[in-house]
Amino acid sequence: MSVKVGIPRALLYYHYYPAWNAFFTALGAEVVLSGETTKTILDNGVRAAVDEACLPVKLYLGHLADLHAKGVDFIFSPRVISVERKKYLCPKFLGLPEIARFGLPGLPQVLDTEININQSYEKTKRNIYRLASRFNRRPWVAGKAIKRAKLAQEIYESKLRCGATPLDALCGKDPPQAAGKARIAVLGHAYNLNDPFISMNLVDKLRDFGVEVVTAEMLRPQDIRRGAACLQKEIFWTFGKELMGAAFYLLEQGSIDGLVLVASFGCGPDSLTCELVERHYKRGKKIPVLMLTLDEHTGEAGVVTRLEAFCDMLHWRKAQ
Ligand code: SF4
Repeated sequence: MSVKVGIPRALLYYHYYPAWNAFFTALGAEVVLSGETTKTILDNGVRAAVDEACLPVKLYLGHLADLHAKGVDFIFSPRVISVERKKYLCPKFLGLPEIARFGLPGLPQVLDTEININQSYEKTKRNIYRLASRFNRRPWVAGKAIKRAKLAQEIYESKLRCGATPLDALCGKDPPQAAGKARIAVLGHAYNLNDPFISMNLVDKLRDFGVEVVTAEMLRPQDIRRGAACLQKEIFWTFGKELMGAAFYLLEQGSIDGLVLVASFGCGPDSLTCELVERHYKRGKKIPVLMLTLDEHTGEAGVVTRLEAFCDMLHWRKAQ
């Protein structure tokens, strides 16, 4: 019987699941995903987390509890510090294995491999080989698993560049035809925007209103870099850089009619990046911005009303 590795359907799942799934499967493990977010999963996470935690971290704990209940042998909760040179993920990601262990005592063994590309690519590679050796001691099997992971991730990212959201690509859905009454950028953390429960299906709702949605993942890395280059000072958070780079690039191109910014309540980086983007848009080409802040108490009716009003206003502006 193969070993079961649990992967929470939260946080970096929306960035790296195809690679992680291919990696563990090639090593002979059975990958078990936590269920789709429900109120119960969220409530369990809220109970396990400290009050100050941001919504995505609370939700992460709820998904860990769900995996625990599913009886997995290991939980994959890597310590992801940096995924590119001179940039970091927010401090919550650095402490994620500890947040998991202390928030939910009695969890199965946590695989907390450290990923720190900024410090040393070679050390990160050794850490991944060490992780692989826990499942299979032959180095060539580990090498094959890493190759499969890279390939799966490349295929996934190419789907995103073709107009799919992470949720579309992970569910095997084709992106809708790129033609709408308006083109709106929806920018925020992938783990908020693509969780249907937390985002209240925001992207699908916009599509139902006849809107073509653009997200940061659909842009090429060089476009994000180009947008981020107009900042006076480089931003050292990877996700903050992506959000701001995408927002500034799309504004410069003049290719969108409006911007929906989605922030997490309790998120330090969001409070800075979203504010800067909003101010920049107000000074720039006067593209309307709708700012939504999500927390565990956000009601769907309020979000739908605001989205509807925003889309009506954009359609009206276009008609003028
Ligand atoms: S970037 Fe913000 S939302 Fe994401 S984990 Fe950090 S504090 Fe939470």
